[in-house]
Amino acid sequence: MKVQAAVAVGKEQPFIIKELELDEPRAGEARVRMVASGVCHTDAVVHDEWYPVPMPAVLGHEGAGIVEAVGPGVTSVVPGDKVVLSMSTCGACEYCLSGHPSFCVNMWPLNFGARRMDGSTAFTDENGQPVGSHFFGQSSFAHYSNVAERSIVKVPDSTPLEILGPLGCGIQTGAGTFLNVLKPWPGSSIVVFGTGAVGLAGMLAAIASGATTVIAVDIVDSRLEFAKTLGATHTINSKNEDAVARIKEITHGGAHFALDSTGNKVVFVQMLNSLRPLGHGAMVGAAAMGSEAAVDVGALLMTGIKLSIVLEGDAVPQTFIPRLISLHEKGLFPFDKLITKYRFEDINKAFADSASGVTIKPVLVY
Ligand code: NAD
Repeated sequence: MKVQAAVAVGKEQPFIIKELELDEPRAGEARVRMVASGVCHTDAVVHDEWYPVPMPAVLGHEGAGIVEAVGPGVTSVVPGDKVVLSMSTCGACEYCLSGHPSFCVNMWPLNFGARRMDGSTAFTDENGQPVGSHFFGQSSFAHYSNVAERSIVKVPDSTPLEILGPLGCGIQTGAGTFLNVLKPWPGSSIVVFGTGAVGLAGMLAAIASGATTVIAVDIVDSRLEFAKTLGATHTINSKNEDAVARIKEITHGGAHFALDSTGNKVVFVQMLNSLRPLGHGAMVGAAAMGSEAAVDVGALLMTGIKLSIVLEGDAVPQTFIPRLISLHEKGLFPFDKLITKYRFEDINKAFADSASGVTIKPVLVY
């Protein structure tokens, strides 16, 4: 069938909306009609060729939509089901089987390969040339896509699909890092470095867990102001003041938990230094390959701190995303406040507004 898709053609070049041919869903795939898709910073870094994803390709990995048709062997969804789309994993390796699918042995080819595992693509252009598909198992920047069953999370009929796509990656990452890995307790102190969608989702989850000293660090004042409206008790613009010294002052010696969502090697060290003894920090930001941070290993020994490197909130999307929806329904996790909606046709504006900091979580509506 013919579908409209936004095609990434290379670094610093705008997405081009064009008609592509979509093939039939194969075994283990469902054809999904997209209702909306979040735009994640990871789409931007892939578009900017930080990672070697073959172009041209249809990116997008926070899709939400309705199942139109299923290929052979698909058992978890039927046509008409509302779904949110997340990462794709093999489901069979030791990491998938032990509940840590984001470290799946096939994480790279299944999510960044922009191909099926047999090398085929679901999309072809007007000349019959392949266009990358299956980005994160879904390539959601298209009105219709053939999606890997492992990427699919069925959600209740009553849920508002237009806001749910970001649960598939950015929101899951921030929230999961706190709910699944750091696990702040009531009364604890937390810091988020970077108040984009990932950092703020983490902050909201920490507040839902009962953290009472909630510090947001960024270099953009408007984002810090917004963080206050979401429940940050303290904000620090690290361009203007020494973030580590200020955090130690606020927390009387360092925070219990910290999240670095900036992908900045200097901030990574600040995050480690802002923890109190036995504190626990997590790094989730995507840094350019080759970024090396200067850490005082000698001084670290005295701290007993823990460091976790977290992908996708260390979540099993099929169980975690329904938990987030339930928290949202109860008013305990208002992630929708991070969202600004754009028409699908305005995809390049959505990316520009995300890069400039104007918009925290753009969502394209189809
Ligand atoms: P974003 O760009 O909206 O947010 C990043 C924030 O960091 C911005 O507010 C920016 O102003 C701030 N920042 C940048 N440099 C800073 C500095 N030196 N000091 C303090 N703050 C600084 O991006 P996002 O959508 O929130 O994503 C955050 C990161 O997480 C990205 O790198 C993204 O690729 C990555 N990511 C990782 C995973 C994962 O599984 N680990 C999943 C999704 C996204």
